[in-house]
Amino acid sequence: MLEISAIIRSVATTTGSLARLGTPDENLTDAERIDAIRRLDDLKAAATAAQARLTDGFVASQRERHLAAGRNPRHQDEGLPQQVGWAHRESPHRGGQLIALARVLVHEMPATLAAMTEGWLSQRRAEALVRETACLSLDDRRTVDRVLAGDRARIESLSYRQLEAEAKRLAATLDAEAVVARARKAEADRRVSIRPAPDTMVWVGALLPVKQGVAAYAALKAYADRGRADGDDRSQHQLMADEFVARLTGVKTAGQIPVTVGLVMTDRALLHRDDEPAEIEGYGPVPAEWARDLLVDTLEAQGVGDDVLAWMRRLYTHPTTGELVSMDSVQRAFTGALARYLGLRDGGICRNAFCGAPIRHVDHVRRVADGGATTGPNGQGLCEACNYAKEAPGWSTRVVIDHLGRHVVETTTPTGHTYRSPAPALPGHSPPPWRGRVVEFEGGIAREVEPGVYELTAA
Ligand SMILES: [Zn+2]
Repeated sequence: MLEISAIIRSVATTTGSLARLGTPDENLTDAERIDAIRRLDDLKAAATAAQARLTDGFVASQRERHLAAGRNPRHQDEGLPQQVGWAHRESPHRGGQLIALARVLVHEMPATLAAMTEGWLSQRRAEALVRETACLSLDDRRTVDRVLAGDRARIESLSYRQLEAEAKRLAATLDAEAVVARARKAEADRRVSIRPAPDTMVWVGALLPVKQGVAAYAALKAYADRGRADGDDRSQHQLMADEFVARLTGVKTAGQIPVTVGLVMTDRALLHRDDEPAEIEGYGPVPAEWARDLLVDTLEAQGVGDDVLAWMRRLYTHPTTGELVSMDSVQRAFTGALARYLGLRDGGICRNAFCGAPIRHVDHVRRVADGGATTGPNGQGLCEACNYAKEAPGWSTRVVIDHLGRHVVETTTPTGHTYRSPAPALPGHSPPPWRGRVVEFEGGIAREVEPGVYELTAA
């Protein structure tokens, strides 16, 4: 470890090498440039191998601490994906993948790890070898590791796809039964997902067993072919997409679908045709014009009922402050309008740094047991994994108001590293300056984070 520290110091700080990488030598020949690109690629591979070893050491040490502290072994890994992910400036989900990758490389695929260390096998290629051997016994996995990662000349001549196919072929040869069993197990992972696309569009996708997936697609295509033959002037793609929505929701046109998405917009944008972008919960900013069209479609399709008006009032941003109306509660749990408010304030996305998973729990930043209140400022939306992680020993979270007046959740991990996550900006206002009092006292500063409640910061 001392040696690794010394190398990192010499590369990154003492000599300023990282900064010098930004100013490449103008006097290089093109051949030297290509050589330098290759050498830097070697360096990246070797660095990811070092990260894998460090990650595995970190996880082993944390597990030992958790066991020594009498923690239930079932919960020993909670909080580890967050810490590893954040160190990479990545989500806890990716942190979990990197932990799993590190464990396999260090304990089960030594030749692959050695190839990375020597710089000729990238992390992406190593991940393919790990993935394709995941269903094998340890002995078979070691065989693939030795045969493929032990043969530099062969591996270096393979494209990424060829390498993946080669690992698949070897795995199927060594243990056909395991590969078939894995295919069966994969069916259990079938799911539907959604992710934002440009231009106020989204991708809705489904991971399905091949037979059902192909059948679903063929049914839509057959419908579109019939429509085209009957003279419908929509394109085949449009017909398929419209029918996809119609069959899933049971209504014929998009405008008839009751809007159950959270939409936040200012009164100026709604009533005075101001072009301040609106915000769709879980998606992000959309143009005001588009949001107005959505509302008009919805109102026309449903008739203007009391439900719709109440819904609009609830999601309205305040005319002058631009803040959503926040409600305080005497309850210990976040429910109803307050939970809804927090979901919108946090954009429908887990509040933890870099996370990006959908909100599953509305949580007290400062625990109720520690005197935390059930109020807007002390609430945050978290995904399931992040909610459990913050209950692990050595974790602490608090709310601070940063110099821009934003609501910031500050998380300190057991290693003493601190990560800050500001609430996303709401439409219609840049963050207002915080008007709570800031009191300097000997040794620090007290900031009023909600009426009468101060956060103390040591100077
Ligand atoms: Zn999360």
